[in-house]
Amino acid sequence: MIVRAGVLYDGTLEPPRRNVDVVIANGAVAEIRAAGGDRDLESPCVTPGLVNAHAHLEGSGEPDLMGMIAATTPSQRLLRAVENARKSIKAGVTTIRDLGSSNRIAADVRDAVEEGRIPGPRMRVAGAVLCMTGGHGWPIGRAVDSPWDARKAVREQLWAGADCIKLIATGGVLTKGAVPGIAQLTPDELEAAIDEAHRHGLRAAAHAIGAEGIKNALRAGVDSVEHGTLLDDDGIALLREQQGYLVPTLSAPTCILAHLEDGTQPPFVAEKARALGEVMVTNLRRAYESGVRFAGGSDAGTPYNYHEDYAHEVELMSSLLGMTAQQALHAATSVAAELVGLHRGVLAVGEPGDLLLLRRDAGEDLRALREPQLVLKGGAIQ
Ligand SMILES: [Zn+2]
Repeated sequence: MIVRAGVLYDGTLEPPRRNVDVVIANGAVAEIRAAGGDRDLESPCVTPGLVNAHAHLEGSGEPDLMGMIAATTPSQRLLRAVENARKSIKAGVTTIRDLGSSNRIAADVRDAVEEGRIPGPRMRVAGAVLCMTGGHGWPIGRAVDSPWDARKAVREQLWAGADCIKLIATGGVLTKGAVPGIAQLTPDELEAAIDEAHRHGLRAAAHAIGAEGIKNALRAGVDSVEHGTLLDDDGIALLREQQGYLVPTLSAPTCILAHLEDGTQPPFVAEKARALGEVMVTNLRRAYESGVRFAGGSDAGTPYNYHEDYAHEVELMSSLLGMTAQQALHAATSVAAELVGLHRGVLAVGEPGDLLLLRRDAGEDLRALREPQLVLKGGAIQ
């Protein structure tokens, strides 16, 4: 298959190339050459498929996510996850990392996509989140209350098909009673879980909003800080030293704050989001300007944060953090892909034929990502 591109962003920060043909054979990029001769598809702008490094497929943007989990059956949530996998790929997300699901749902969706039973992105999944008893995320969590218990919980996730491990280092917004600024899993619990994950070749991601919990997770060797909202200068220094990733999930508080007047969300959610929204941009922008590596991830599935809206997160990385359009695309393709670990997220010979065909130049206006003309995964039209 030959895809002709008016302009091609390959996922790196190299200058875009104009008037090229991307040749795809056996599901992978075989050649990128100057345009000429026959072509099968043609588009004004081509980018790699997007990578969402933080999502929850069983959530569909319900105003009260934890309440929804309590009020539905596992099979109802599995059906929603199937629907959200389809919405993600249709919107151009060709790789996704599910960072917390109940009842093996994400792992089962991943396997069904791999078996060709349902449409969806390439997936990596964490399984249940590891949290302290009654801590943030407990409705989709495995309670952990000592270092040895943390090791056992990692082994259980591995047994249940996890590709990575999600740890709850601080309180959070969506769980009643969990205070975002307060550290939850202790340093020795985090260290044990991360050591166990790394021994088996799994990466560890930490939900971390408060400054202390962020540093606890980084000192324990975590690979990515998720949210990072109250990050301080020591946290920034640790992230840089360890070359960790920060997944900013800007959509999560932004979507909650955009619906404050609806009266549809639990009051504790609105209250916590309001307090964090004020400092989020200042802190994360400082981290970006200090050279911290940002990987795109939206926390899709949280209130009003829909799986088909990942383009919104890419736009927010540009408008709130000051990234150029190409830097935001880089964060949402190759940097996120590096973190997820399935492929490089770039358009280069030998890489998967995961392409977005867009109606206009995304480097000039990221809104071009909102409605792709066509999405290819492994060279197949989705
Ligand atoms: Zn999340």
